[in-house]
Amino acid sequence: MHISDLPERTQDYLKVLWDYEERHGEGTPMALGELATALQQKLPTASEAVKRLAKQELVVHERYFGVGLTPTGRELAVVMARRHRLLETFLVRTLGYSWDEVHAEADALEHATSDRFVDAIDAHLGHPDRDPHGDPIPRADGSSEPLSPQRLAQAEPGAEVILEQVNDSDPELLRYLDRFAVHPGSALRVVAAPMAGLLEVETSAGATFTVAEGVAQEMVVRPADKDS
Ligand SMILES: [Zn+2]
Repeated sequence: MHISDLPERTQDYLKVLWDYEERHGEGTPMALGELATALQQKLPTASEAVKRLAKQELVVHERYFGVGLTPTGRELAVVMARRHRLLETFLVRTLGYSWDEVHAEADALEHATSDRFVDAIDAHLGHPDRDPHGDPIPRADGSSEPLSPQRLAQAEPGAEVILEQVNDSDPELLRYLDRFAVHPGSALRVVAAPMAGLLEVETSAGATFTVAEGVAQEMVVRPADKDS
């Protein structure tokens, strides 16, 4: 079976589950409600879809635990992640899009593309490791670099960290970070929590910005001293 043989909706389910595993660890099941929300579907609709996917042996749904990918499902899903991230990189690097514009475009294009086209983009760009949001780009063989397990919300106040990845589906946040020249690779320091639920963060250029703790919880960082 090839990912292109599956309906678009199925491709989306597999990709959302793959992204979730990437952030939470391979084999970590996603709660059905969370999966439904991520796909903007009603719970009963998602439940039916998951039943169908389970019958095709692409996912496993364990009651009270959630939905996880089978090895076959994971193999198909990684192709979608590769397409999405290479398309985003191509749109930014080659076509001059800004990083807040590409997610929706890539979401649409990823269903209409072929392996040949995606491999051509990969070669044209010189086999990039990360997309504009810092997401690791899976290689053609399905392997990819793991994301750092640390989040900005857990950074020690005063300690320098390197921003590794930000949520690509929140254009407003991306534009906000852009104003402070904050991108993957930027050095950041949490300076204070001016009030509950807020973090004040300083950039290496001395600019200070504020983020909600919930947002910082999604921002992937790594310790600055482990920078390579
Ligand atoms: Zn994206």
